[in-house]
Amino acid sequence: MANTRPRVELIPIFEDNYVFCLIDDNNQEALVIDPGESSKTSNYLKENNLKLTGVLLTHHHNDHVGGVRSLISEHPAPVYAPMKNKSQIGSADTWVAEGHTVRVGPFEFQVLELPGHTLGHVAYWEPKFKWLFSGDVLFGLGCGRLFEGTYEQAYESLQRIKKLPEETLVYCTHEYTESNLTFCNMLSNLDDSPITGDSEELEMYANQLLSRREMNLPSVPLKLSVELRVNPFLLAKSVAQFTYLRDLRNKQ
Ligand SMILES: [Zn+2]
Repeated sequence: MANTRPRVELIPIFEDNYVFCLIDDNNQEALVIDPGESSKTSNYLKENNLKLTGVLLTHHHNDHVGGVRSLISEHPAPVYAPMKNKSQIGSADTWVAEGHTVRVGPFEFQVLELPGHTLGHVAYWEPKFKWLFSGDVLFGLGCGRLFEGTYEQAYESLQRIKKLPEETLVYCTHEYTESNLTFCNMLSNLDDSPITGDSEELEMYANQLLSRREMNLPSVPLKLSVELRVNPFLLAKSVAQFTYLRDLRNKQ
Protein backbone atom coordinates (compact mmCIF):
# COMPACT_ATOMS: atom_id res chain seq x y z
CA MET A 1 0.00 0.00 0.00
CA ALA A 2 1.26 3.47 -0.85
CA ASN A 3 2.32 5.62 2.03
CA THR A 4 -0.64 7.90 2.71
CA ARG A 5 -0.43 11.24 4.44
CA PRO A 6 -1.85 11.38 7.97
CA ARG A 7 -5.18 13.15 8.39
CA VAL A 8 -7.06 14.91 11.15
CA GLU A 9 -10.57 13.84 12.07
CA LEU A 10 -12.75 16.21 14.13
CA ILE A 11 -14.93 14.59 16.76
CA PRO A 12 -17.52 17.06 18.08
CA ILE A 13 -18.27 16.84 21.81
CA PHE A 14 -20.35 18.92 24.22
CA GLU A 15 -21.86 22.13 22.82
CA ASP A 16 -18.97 23.34 20.68
CA ASN A 17 -15.73 21.44 21.44
CA TYR A 18 -13.71 19.35 18.99
CA VAL A 19 -11.52 16.41 19.90
CA PHE A 20 -8.83 15.98 17.25
CA CYS A 21 -7.96 12.49 16.15
CA LEU A 22 -4.78 12.34 14.05
CA ILE A 23 -4.86 9.22 11.97
CA ASP A 24 -1.96 7.35 10.42
CA ASP A 25 -3.74 5.02 7.97
CA ASN A 26 -0.48 3.26 7.11
CA ASN A 27 -0.28 1.74 10.56
CA GLN A 28 -3.91 1.98 11.73
CA GLU A 29 -2.77 4.25 14.55
CA ALA A 30 -4.25 7.39 16.04
CA LEU A 31 -3.25 10.17 18.36
CA VAL A 32 -5.88 12.17 20.22
CA ILE A 33 -5.79 15.79 21.34
CA ASP A 34 -7.81 17.24 24.25
CA PRO A 35 -10.43 14.53 24.87
CA GLY A 36 -12.81 16.41 27.15
CA GLU A 37 -15.09 13.41 26.99
CA SER A 38 -14.18 9.83 26.06
CA SER A 39 -17.16 7.87 24.73
CA LYS A 40 -17.30 9.32 21.21
CA THR A 41 -13.53 9.12 20.75
CA SER A 42 -13.33 5.63 22.16
CA ASN A 43 -16.12 4.45 19.85
CA TYR A 44 -14.45 6.14 16.89
CA LEU A 45 -11.19 4.30 17.60
CA LYS A 46 -12.98 0.96 17.94
CA GLU A 47 -15.17 1.39 14.87
CA ASN A 48 -12.18 2.29 12.75
CA ASN A 49 -9.92 -0.33 14.26
CA LEU A 50 -7.34 2.27 15.32
CA LYS A 51 -4.70 1.78 17.98
CA LEU A 52 -4.24 4.80 20.25
CA THR A 53 -0.56 5.81 20.38
CA GLY A 54 -0.79 8.94 22.51
CA VAL A 55 -2.91 11.72 23.99
CA LEU A 56 -1.81 15.35 23.90
CA LEU A 57 -3.30 17.92 26.28
CA THR A 58 -3.07 21.69 25.84
CA HIS A 59 -4.24 22.84 29.27
CA HIS A 60 -5.98 21.73 32.44
CA HIS A 61 -9.60 22.79 31.80
CA ASN A 62 -12.01 19.92 32.22
CA ASP A 63 -13.55 20.24 28.76
CA HIS A 64 -10.07 19.34 27.43
CA VAL A 65 -8.92 16.67 29.89
CA GLY A 66 -12.12 15.21 31.38
CA GLY A 67 -12.17 12.10 29.18
CA VAL A 68 -8.53 11.06 29.52
CA ARG A 69 -8.79 8.48 32.31
CA SER A 70 -11.65 6.60 30.77
CA LEU A 71 -10.12 6.80 27.26
CA ILE A 72 -6.78 5.33 28.32
CA SER A 73 -8.42 2.68 30.48
CA GLU A 74 -9.82 1.25 27.24
CA HIS A 75 -6.94 2.31 24.97
CA PRO A 76 -3.70 2.47 26.99
CA ALA A 77 -1.29 5.13 25.71
CA PRO A 78 1.06 7.80 27.07
CA VAL A 79 -0.56 11.13 27.99
CA TYR A 80 1.42 14.33 27.39
CA ALA A 81 0.52 17.49 29.29
CA PRO A 82 2.07 20.84 30.19
CA MET A 83 4.66 20.63 32.96
CA LYS A 84 3.19 23.80 34.44
CA ASN A 85 -0.13 21.96 34.95
CA LYS A 86 1.49 18.99 36.70
CA SER A 87 -0.46 19.49 39.91
CA GLN A 88 -3.73 20.03 38.00
CA ILE A 89 -3.72 17.14 35.52
CA GLY A 90 -3.65 13.86 37.43
CA SER A 91 -4.32 11.75 34.34
CA ALA A 92 -1.08 12.60 32.48
CA ASP A 93 2.27 10.82 32.75
CA THR A 94 4.63 12.71 30.43
CA TRP A 95 5.32 16.41 30.97
CA VAL A 96 6.17 18.86 28.24
CA ALA A 97 7.55 22.38 28.19
CA GLU A 98 8.79 25.04 25.77
CA GLY A 99 11.31 23.62 23.31
CA HIS A 100 10.41 19.98 23.86
CA THR A 101 9.67 17.74 20.91
CA VAL A 102 6.98 15.07 21.16
CA ARG A 103 7.54 12.21 18.74
CA VAL A 104 4.61 9.88 18.20
CA GLY A 105 4.21 7.79 15.03
CA PRO A 106 4.82 9.99 11.96
CA PHE A 107 4.51 13.21 14.01
CA GLU A 108 7.12 15.44 15.59
CA PHE A 109 5.40 18.15 17.58
CA GLN A 110 7.23 21.16 18.88
CA VAL A 111 5.85 22.39 22.19
CA LEU A 112 5.10 26.11 22.39
CA GLU A 113 4.22 27.61 25.76
CA LEU A 114 1.46 30.16 25.06
CA PRO A 115 0.18 31.61 28.36
CA GLY A 116 -2.87 33.85 28.56
CA HIS A 117 -6.05 31.74 28.60
CA THR A 118 -4.28 29.77 31.36
CA LEU A 119 -0.74 30.13 32.64
CA GLY A 120 0.42 26.66 31.66
CA HIS A 121 -1.23 26.50 28.23
CA VAL A 122 0.82 24.86 25.47
CA ALA A 123 0.23 24.44 21.75
CA TYR A 124 1.59 21.61 19.62
CA TRP A 125 3.13 22.67 16.32
CA GLU A 126 3.79 20.03 13.66
CA PRO A 127 6.20 21.65 11.17
CA LYS A 128 6.14 18.85 8.58
CA PHE A 129 2.36 18.99 8.12
CA LYS A 130 2.07 22.65 9.18
CA TRP A 131 -0.61 21.93 11.74
CA LEU A 132 -1.02 23.89 14.96
CA PHE A 133 -3.10 22.44 17.79
CA SER A 134 -3.73 25.57 19.76
CA GLY A 135 -6.34 24.65 22.39
CA ASP A 136 -8.04 27.83 23.60
CA VAL A 137 -5.40 30.42 22.60
CA LEU A 138 -6.75 31.44 19.20
CA PHE A 139 -10.21 31.03 17.67
CA GLY A 140 -11.76 31.84 14.32
CA LEU A 141 -11.94 35.66 14.34
CA GLY A 142 -11.24 35.61 18.06
CA CYS A 143 -9.03 34.48 20.89
CA GLY A 144 -9.41 32.71 24.23
CA ARG A 145 -10.65 34.46 27.36
CA LEU A 146 -7.96 35.31 29.90
CA PHE A 147 -8.66 33.17 32.95
CA GLU A 148 -5.19 33.19 34.45
CA GLY A 149 -2.72 35.12 32.32
CA THR A 150 -2.16 38.82 31.71
CA TYR A 151 -3.00 40.82 28.60
CA GLU A 152 0.74 41.08 27.91
CA GLN A 153 1.15 37.32 28.00
CA ALA A 154 -1.85 36.69 25.75
CA TYR A 155 -0.68 39.34 23.29
CA GLU A 156 2.81 37.83 23.17
CA SER A 157 1.35 34.35 22.64
CA LEU A 158 -0.55 35.60 19.59
CA GLN A 159 2.65 37.23 18.25
CA ARG A 160 4.30 33.82 18.35
CA ILE A 161 1.47 32.26 16.35
CA LYS A 162 1.77 35.09 13.81
CA LYS A 163 5.38 34.05 13.17
CA LEU A 164 4.40 30.55 12.01
CA PRO A 165 4.27 29.89 8.25
CA GLU A 166 1.22 31.44 6.57
CA GLU A 167 0.05 28.09 5.22
CA THR A 168 -0.41 26.78 8.77
CA LEU A 169 -3.75 25.18 9.55
CA VAL A 170 -4.91 26.06 13.05
CA TYR A 171 -6.88 23.42 14.92
CA CYS A 172 -8.54 25.33 17.75
CA THR A 173 -10.78 23.49 20.19
CA HIS A 174 -14.00 25.50 19.98
CA GLU A 175 -16.50 26.31 17.26
CA TYR A 176 -16.81 29.99 18.22
CA THR A 177 -16.27 31.51 14.78
CA GLU A 178 -19.88 32.58 14.14
CA SER A 179 -20.25 34.36 17.44
CA ASN A 180 -16.87 36.03 16.86
CA LEU A 181 -18.11 37.16 13.45
CA THR A 182 -20.92 39.06 15.19
CA PHE A 183 -18.25 40.78 17.28
CA CYS A 184 -16.19 41.63 14.18
CA ASN A 185 -19.21 43.14 12.44
CA MET A 186 -19.99 45.21 15.51
CA LEU A 187 -16.35 46.31 15.61
CA SER A 188 -16.26 47.43 12.01
CA ASN A 189 -19.38 49.56 12.62
CA LEU A 190 -17.75 51.46 15.49
CA ASP A 191 -16.72 55.01 14.58
CA ASP A 192 -13.59 54.98 16.68
CA SER A 193 -12.42 51.38 16.16
CA PRO A 194 -8.63 51.27 16.13
CA ILE A 195 -8.57 47.90 14.41
CA THR A 196 -9.67 47.64 10.84
CA GLY A 197 -9.13 44.38 9.00
CA ASP A 198 -9.63 43.91 5.29
CA SER A 199 -13.40 44.43 4.92
CA GLU A 200 -13.69 42.60 1.58
CA GLU A 201 -11.80 39.68 3.01
CA LEU A 202 -14.07 39.66 6.06
CA GLU A 203 -17.15 39.63 3.84
CA MET A 204 -15.78 36.66 1.91
CA TYR A 205 -14.90 34.95 5.16
CA ALA A 206 -18.44 35.53 6.46
CA ASN A 207 -20.04 34.11 3.31
CA GLN A 208 -17.91 30.99 3.38
CA LEU A 209 -18.41 30.54 7.10
CA LEU A 210 -22.18 30.84 6.97
CA SER A 211 -22.53 28.43 4.06
CA ARG A 212 -20.30 25.88 5.82
CA ARG A 213 -22.20 26.21 9.08
CA GLU A 214 -25.53 25.88 7.28
CA MET A 215 -24.31 22.50 6.05
CA ASN A 216 -23.20 21.74 9.60
CA LEU A 217 -19.54 21.71 8.55
CA PRO A 218 -16.87 22.95 10.98
CA SER A 219 -15.05 26.25 10.53
CA VAL A 220 -11.96 24.46 11.91
CA PRO A 221 -9.17 24.15 10.86
CA LEU A 222 -8.60 27.86 10.40
CA LYS A 223 -6.25 29.09 7.71
CA LEU A 224 -3.62 31.21 9.42
CA SER A 225 -3.07 33.20 6.20
CA VAL A 226 -6.71 34.33 6.33
CA GLU A 227 -6.92 34.88 10.10
CA LEU A 228 -3.89 37.17 9.82
CA ARG A 229 -5.94 39.51 7.63
CA VAL A 230 -9.29 39.44 9.43
CA ASN A 231 -8.91 38.35 13.05
CA PRO A 232 -8.90 41.60 15.07
CA PHE A 233 -6.90 40.01 17.89
CA LEU A 234 -4.12 39.14 15.42
CA LEU A 235 -4.38 42.60 13.86
CA ALA A 236 -3.93 44.38 17.22
CA LYS A 237 -0.65 46.27 17.01
CA SER A 238 -0.01 46.71 20.71
CA VAL A 239 -0.92 45.32 24.12
CA ALA A 240 -3.16 48.37 24.56
CA GLN A 241 -5.14 47.59 21.40
CA PHE A 242 -5.36 43.93 22.37
CA THR A 243 -6.63 44.89 25.84
CA TYR A 244 -9.25 47.20 24.34
CA LEU A 245 -10.52 44.39 22.08
CA ARG A 246 -10.52 41.71 24.78
CA ASP A 247 -12.43 43.94 27.19
CA LEU A 248 -14.94 44.88 24.52
CA ARG A 249 -15.43 41.20 23.60
CA ASN A 250 -15.95 40.25 27.26
CA LYS A 251 -18.83 42.69 27.48
CA GLN A 252 -20.71 41.03 24.60
ZN1 LIG B 1 -9.88 26.37 28.36
